[in-house]
Amino acid sequence: MNDLAAPIRFEAKDFKSDVKPIWCPGCGDFGVLAALTRALAQLGRPAEQVAVVSGIGCSSRLPAYTTAYGFHGVHGRALPIATGLKLARPELEVIAVGGDGDGYSIGGNHFLHACRRNVDIPYIVMDNRVYGMTKGQPSPTTEPDWESELSPEGTGLRPFNPMALAVAAGATFVARGFTGDPNGLAKLMVDAIRWRGFALLEVLSPCPTFRPEQKEWKETVHPGPAVPIEDPARAAAALLEDDGFGVGVFFRGPQRGDKPHLCAATTLAEIEREFTL
Ligand code: SF4
Repeated sequence: MNDLAAPIRFEAKDFKSDVKPIWCPGCGDFGVLAALTRALAQLGRPAEQVAVVSGIGCSSRLPAYTTAYGFHGVHGRALPIATGLKLARPELEVIAVGGDGDGYSIGGNHFLHACRRNVDIPYIVMDNRVYGMTKGQPSPTTEPDWESELSPEGTGLRPFNPMALAVAAGATFVARGFTGDPNGLAKLMVDAIRWRGFALLEVLSPCPTFRPEQKEWKETVHPGPAVPIEDPARAAAALLEDDGFGVGVFFRGPQRGDKPHLCAATTLAEIEREFTL
C-alpha cells in the first residue's frame, strides 16, 4: 500500500484556517498551501499535534493559513525556532517553512547547521528566485543574468545551490517538488515529514508578479533521479550538475536511529539532567 492510499481520517480542509491568503493571484505559494493541507490530512495527525514555523517573506505567511499551531518568526530564524520547539516538544510534528531569500541569505548559517545537526524536522522552501515581499530584489538563488529594475545588468553572481549544500552539510533527505504538480508535491511532503532527520524539500514556487517568465516552469520541469541516490558524494556531484528543474527525491541517507553515532538523540529533559547543579 503506498502512502497516499492509506486510510484518511482528515480532509485537507480540516487544516485550512479561515484566514484568507493575501498572496498575489497565481502565486505558487497557494499550491504549497494546498499540498501541505493535503499532506497533513494524509499523515492523519490532528492539527493540535502539528506546528508550522516560518521566518519572514511572502511564503512565511503560510502558518496563518493553516489550523495547526503557527509561529511567524523573525527574518531567517525559522530553523532555530523550529529546532528549539522540536527539542522542547519532540512529540509535536514541527514543520519549518519559508522562502529562498529568508532561508538561504540571512538564514543561511542556520540552514547549514540544521543540516549538520540532522535535526528531525522537514524544511519546505518555496523557492521563486526573488525577494517578492520587498519588491523584487535578486535572492541567493537568482540566475546571474536576470535583469530587473533593481539589477539592470543582472547580478553576475553564481546562484546558491541549496540542495548540494544540504547534502554536503549533513542533511539526510533532499528533494525538489513543483507547485504545478500538487499530488506529487503532497507525496514529497508526506515523505519529508515522515523522515527521521533533517529533510530539505525545495519547491519551485513561481512568483508571477516579479518573475512572470516562471510561468514557463511547467514546461521546464522534468523527473529527477528514478531512485534516490544514497551515497552523499554521488548525490552532491549530481546536484552540482543539476539544471534546477528535476523533481523528486535526489538524496536519501540514513535516518535518525539507523546510525545513532551520526545524530545522538537529545531531549530537553536529558539536557536538564546533565546540567542540574
Ligand atoms: Fe507570491 Fe510573488 Fe506575490 Fe509574493 S510577490 S505573493 S511571491 S506572487
